[in-house]
Amino acid sequence: MVAPITTSSIRQILDRALNGQDISEADGILLLQQSDPMYRAAIQATADQLRQQQSGETVTYVINRNINFTNICEQHCSFCAFRRDPDQEGAYWLDTEVILTKAAAAVAQGASEICMQGGLNPAAQIHGRALDYYLNIVTHLRSAFPQLHLHAFSPQEVQFIARQDGLSYAQVIAALQEAGVGSMPGTAAEVLDDEVRKVICPEKIDSATWLEIVSTAHQMGMPTTSTLLSGHIETPAQQMHHLQQLRRLQQQAIDQDAAARFTEFILLPFVGQDAPKPLRRRVGRDQPNLDDALLLMAVARIYLGNWIVNHQPSWVKLGLAGATIALEWGCNDIGGTLMEEHITTMAGAQGGTCQTEADLRAAIHRIERPAQQRDTLYRYLPSTQITYPA
Ligand code: SF4
Repeated sequence: MVAPITTSSIRQILDRALNGQDISEADGILLLQQSDPMYRAAIQATADQLRQQQSGETVTYVINRNINFTNICEQHCSFCAFRRDPDQEGAYWLDTEVILTKAAAAVAQGASEICMQGGLNPAAQIHGRALDYYLNIVTHLRSAFPQLHLHAFSPQEVQFIARQDGLSYAQVIAALQEAGVGSMPGTAAEVLDDEVRKVICPEKIDSATWLEIVSTAHQMGMPTTSTLLSGHIETPAQQMHHLQQLRRLQQQAIDQDAAARFTEFILLPFVGQDAPKPLRRRVGRDQPNLDDALLLMAVARIYLGNWIVNHQPSWVKLGLAGATIALEWGCNDIGGTLMEEHITTMAGAQGGTCQTEADLRAAIHRIERPAQQRDTLYRYLPSTQITYPA
């Protein structure tokens, strides 16, 4: 017989978390199923207290530039409004000079990081090997701007290069690392459930491959972020199973004394407005449901916080106002300036394509918290200062 959900069972879960214990996947599902404002307020307060214990009061941000070097992609993810076929109107493929010009503009604005991801363009093999196309970009950026941290190429891109060139994942990661890639975005995780993946990204790497590539990266000293694409067809059980796999991978990296780890968890709520129609119709919503995203951010803090300390909302998807509220639901970082965001904006996101440093700091100060610039690996930048609300 299933035990009834009572105030005391919710309270016991939250108290266990506040005492430093890990809650279970089943506990997390129970929390995610709560719609009563009283329970939600208790979950929010717990997540906020854990955030304070685990990462303190200061909210961090990074000055970075996003460069999506091509939207030509061989895949057809059902949530993606960014991809184009090579001969389709709007298709683009940036050459190295343009990428360098964008990086120079970012440096002029104080960027410490370039974040680079793109479509899976089979023409990358134009120079013989796909890997050489990627290495060429990295080498040019490293040589022109050695001070920049390159946060680049998702596990899906690693698998694409490996498949195109007949290399192992470790060979691809080693080559990128040697050329100057400093960390890898943990995108393409979407939901680590192969039934969900069959619907939203049927051509993408499966869950096991995503985990294998990320684990390989960690063993080789390449840190990654972790993400969850939420708010479409997935269930609370699938959301929690996703978080369970992230937590297990981080525990494994710690147990094995891996040279790198997950640096952060980022929630990416689905934006459907201009996404391909079948998924958009099935979800029946153009913009993310902020209440659902906040509850999931809080549960992610409660479930993951002992293992992944840094949690970030997406201002692109929630808007800066929504992301600022998420700082009171377990998040301790507000992300990057980005300078140009295309992928989610083309799906109809209303959060904008860039933020200034002043805007990010002002948002943080609005909730009476100190603000501090960080680097990609969450180290405070020595040349910068913490600022406090007026
Ligand atoms: S999400 Fe990425 S892999 Fe999928 S279609 Fe869009 S660009 Fe291609």
